[in-house]
Amino acid sequence: MSHYNIDRIAAVLQASYLQKADTTGYVEHLLIDSRRIILPATALFFALKTARRDGHDFITETYNKGVRHFIVQQQVDIKVLPGANVLLVPDTLKALQQLASYHRQQFSIPVIGITGSNGKTIVKDWLYQLLSDHYNIIRSPKSYNSQVGVPLSVWQLQPQHTLAIFEAGISQQGEMDALQQIIQPTIGVLTNISEVHADGFSDAQEKLVEKQKLFAGTTAVICSPEKLLPLSFRQEHIFSWGEQKENKVVITRINKKLAETTIDFTSWELSESITIPFIDDASVENVLTCLSVCLYLKVPFSEIKEKFNQLRAVSLRLELKSGLHNTTIINDSYSADLSSLAIALNMLQQQGQHTKRSIILSDFQLTEEQETETYTSIAALLHHHNINRLITVGKKTKQLLAPLVAGDIEVQSFSSTAELAEQLPALGFQNETILIKGARVFELDRIAQLLEQKTHQTVLEINLSAIVRNIRAHQQLLKPSTMIMAMVKAFSYGSGSYEIANLLQFMKADYLAVAFTDEGVALRKAGITLPIMVMNPEPITFDSLIDHNLEPELFSFSILHAFESFLEKEGISSYPVHLKIDTGMHRLGFMQHELPALADVLKKNSFTVQSVFSHLAASEDPAEDAFTLEQSKRFEEACAFLQSTLDYTFIRHLDNSHGTIRHPQLQYDMVRLGIGMYGVSSAKGKLQLEEALQLKTTIAQIKQLHPGDTVGYNRRGIITQPSTVATVRIGYADGYPRNLSNGKGHMFVNGKPAPVIGTVCMDMTMLDITGIADVREGDEVIVFGPEFSVVEVAKQSQTIAYELMTGISQRVKRVYFEE
Ligand SMILES: *Cc1c(COP(=O)(O)O)cnc(C)c1O
Repeated sequence: MSHYNIDRIAAVLQASYLQKADTTGYVEHLLIDSRRIILPATALFFALKTARRDGHDFITETYNKGVRHFIVQQQVDIKVLPGANVLLVPDTLKALQQLASYHRQQFSIPVIGITGSNGKTIVKDWLYQLLSDHYNIIRSPKSYNSQVGVPLSVWQLQPQHTLAIFEAGISQQGEMDALQQIIQPTIGVLTNISEVHADGFSDAQEKLVEKQKLFAGTTAVICSPEKLLPLSFRQEHIFSWGEQKENKVVITRINKKLAETTIDFTSWELSESITIPFIDDASVENVLTCLSVCLYLKVPFSEIKEKFNQLRAVSLRLELKSGLHNTTIINDSYSADLSSLAIALNMLQQQGQHTKRSIILSDFQLTEEQETETYTSIAALLHHHNINRLITVGKKTKQLLAPLVAGDIEVQSFSSTAELAEQLPALGFQNETILIKGARVFELDRIAQLLEQKTHQTVLEINLSAIVRNIRAHQQLLKPSTMIMAMVKAFSYGSGSYEIANLLQFMKADYLAVAFTDEGVALRKAGITLPIMVMNPEPITFDSLIDHNLEPELFSFSILHAFESFLEKEGISSYPVHLKIDTGMHRLGFMQHELPALADVLKKNSFTVQSVFSHLAASEDPAEDAFTLEQSKRFEEACAFLQSTLDYTFIRHLDNSHGTIRHPQLQYDMVRLGIGMYGVSSAKGKLQLEEALQLKTTIAQIKQLHPGDTVGYNRRGIITQPSTVATVRIGYADGYPRNLSNGKGHMFVNGKPAPVIGTVCMDMTMLDITGIADVREGDEVIVFGPEFSVVEVAKQSQTIAYELMTGISQRVKRVYFEE
């Protein structure tokens, strides 16, 4: 661990003490998020300030959780922080970076800094796989490559490490200098540069210039030469790969077969070949980058040759799936180190649907010196996250970890994954969340498969990280004070229910809204404590509405009076409600002429009006902008009138997702985000949204057919030339629209569109895959996703994305992941 006391940190940062207490303790963890406290006693909290969140607001909360070291950039009330050390600096982010930079200077090992548009994370992880027998490697966790992520990564550097690999990502001018000073790479790696992402830069060239600032001070830059700008480097520093003879690694042949690629190359005296289990160009390029790094480092080739064959597409993803017996499985069975364990435990904590939490943990691969300290930290982490049961796999966890937690945590130990697999049914997992975490050699993935619910192989994948980024993207259009109500009706637009709500709660959304009382009750049962608006509360559900602290939308006098008399009967007053005004949508809501009578009822104080809102009929349609503005005018008048009759204020909200993007001036006090959270939008405009849902299926069978043959019911699919037809495991019962039959719809096979042939069946669909190379039974097929938008599929089916998304049937398994 990094051993600095606060005095030394104060000296490094040239910071002054706002309050000085006991300064003898060591700081080992840097903390920027009060929700992610790991080991408070040795943590140092940086109160970072962003447009939306001010870390200074969370100091008391952090203090109450046991943290005693703080870095702030403004005066704080130290009276409420007895015994804490509080340092004042001009800029907390700069201080975080400065401290990491100082820490970096304590080491003289090779440090690889990776930048580029694509492939940074995969190159980092493959280098780790290739080199971990030769070096004790520290690498950035997940894709921690930002102005905040990089310092946190570099802070993990410890004396036992012999090689460091860090990623650097930038989004605007001027950011790379800061990252260069923190990473101080000795070896630069430039991965694939794409022309497209030039946001934040005037053009791609400018971005490239900025990226290559990372390489200042390196003794080598590894890349394919066409990627490099001629300007900044001395030729002898460039260690390039390519077909030309001038390269240090000369590629002589690339031979792609069914599922693998063989690459022949020469480098100095060496004339060799590697075989990799991938055939796509991006993987080949990333492998060549990795190969060049290994050769530059002079790792004996014979010792790594075979490892190229075993490279796996790293699952960076932390996957969340439902398991047997009402369990939730978080599968992170690919890596074992402290920082990734902390990240996985955070996900476990964020998903609060079960109170019981178990972890299946294999030995970490550690040197003897590291063991005691690492397992002590793991024990502290398990305590901190209130783990109920620990299941260890391997000798070391049994010897060194189990005794540290025994007594508080139920422990069961197994010597191998095979033994655990055999005993699994006897462990009686039910109604709990299970985190599976371990070193890759233990292959705990097998356990994950055994615990998961078996379904047919059609899955809807939900990228939780993309949802977070999409919400942040919308927030950029909003004032910092504008609240967000997340619309999670209809199983969060088909994507799940409590999984998404848990995420939104963790992100501190202000409000949730559902269509029906039942949906709200389900969320409460899953531990959601955010306020929840119910848009369509039926009188027979008033009881459970109140029992579960749900807030009804009142849209007409009949529902209003029904609720009022219910409250009277129960002896309840001032119950929180939301008033819906009809400003032109003509679906639900009080009409303008009803407002005076409404005001009279409100005076009786049965209700507290939490909010007044209305819904836009055509927020996405530029041709209807005049109508939208008319709606907003009526809305403002209605709010002003109701406000004049009440002696307290309420929240006003009008914009939905498209409204937020297209009419941000109508944000009032809150916006209601629905489809935009999933990155599905016809009005993205300048917003960078990412589609968060991907519907996938698999090929059950492939057939060769001949002219005259027909495919499917009623012989609708007619074969006119020799054809290859694949049957996939999705049909209209899964929500794949039947009107996409006979060439109307496409799915993506091996990156190529394959038209539907014949009619869509209940559980199956046939695709014409003629001419698409290298397709095998069992292969994955994309129905829609980031590369093939659900908006397109909806268009082909003459509907809208909303209908398609919410129509995906519940038998399709949902898989959640974070990247
Ligand atoms: C569904 C819904 C929204 C969200 O709409 P999106 O177009 O998905 O953003 C907002 N307000 C109300 C009243 C809704 O019913």
